[in-house]
Formats: sequence, C-alpha cells, structure tokens
Amino acid sequence: MDCLFCKIANKEIPSYTIYEDDYVRCFLDINPIENGHTLIVPKKHFTDFYDIDEEYLNKVFDAARIVAKTINEKLKPEGLRLTQNNGFIQDVKHFHLHIIPKYREDQSKLDVEEVFNRLTK
Ligand code: 5GP
Ligand code: ZN
Repeated sequence: MDCLFCKIANKEIPSYTIYEDDYVRCFLDINPIENGHTLIVPKKHFTDFYDIDEEYLNKVFDAARIVAKTINEKLKPEGLRLTQNNGFIQDVKHFHLHIIPKYREDQSKLDVEEVFNRLTK
C-alpha cells in the first residue's frame, strides 16, 4: 500500500523517532505547531479512529503516556494537548495521535533536529 505513515513506520522513510516499540513509532511532526509536536503512529495500517482496533488503540495511548513524560521532563511545557483528526480534516489517512506541548509564553520555533536532540539526550 502506498501510505506515507506505513513507510515512516517501517523505516522506508526516515523520521526523528523519539520512542518505538513493536506496535508504534513516535516521531516529530515535520511541520510542528509547537516545539516537541509528536505523532504516535501504529506500525499496522489503520485508516482512522473508526478503523483502528482496540489492541492498537491501547498501545497508542500507552506510548502517548511515555512520550508525554519525556516531553514534560525535557521541554518543560505547562500544558499538553492530544488531538486526532478524522474525515475531511485528516490529511494523512493512516491513524495518528498528535501530542502537542503547550507553552505559556511564545516560544521561538526550534529546528526539528534541535528538538530531537533535546528529547533524546
Ligand atoms: P492530520 O491532519 O492528518 O491529522 O495531520 C498530519 C500531520 O502529519 C501534520 O501535522 C503534518 O505536518 C504531518 N506530516 C505530514 N507529512 C509528514 C512527513 O513526511 N513526516 C513527518 N514527520 N510528519 C508529516
Ligand atoms: Zn499506512
């Protein structure tokens, strides 16, 4: 299947992965809303919230907690938003959960590579 996030999940396309296990790959969004904006992507293809099975949905949220902890420790946001788009507002038709740290003060936008270094060092 010609799916961008399947290709990222199985490493055909590189990504700034901050966490992975047998079920998910978690990588930095290429066009982040905030520094540390991360996508939690199941390694098996599901289109959206209506399609994903319970096992993978649970694994996505398990990973979201792990990633949130890392983001909170390393980037020290004061809030955290989880979003997941379906239908016409979903651009990439492979289920993904957005984790978007929120900062009280406006942050200068860092390079994705710099954010990756801060999250993984
Ligand atoms: P959606 O609207 O489908 O919920 O959001 C898709 C997200 O995927 C967007 O935030 C977009 O910036 C991100 N994205 C699209 N293509 C790529 C890519 O090739 N690599 C990465 N890391 N993120 C991508
Ligand atoms: Zn896919």
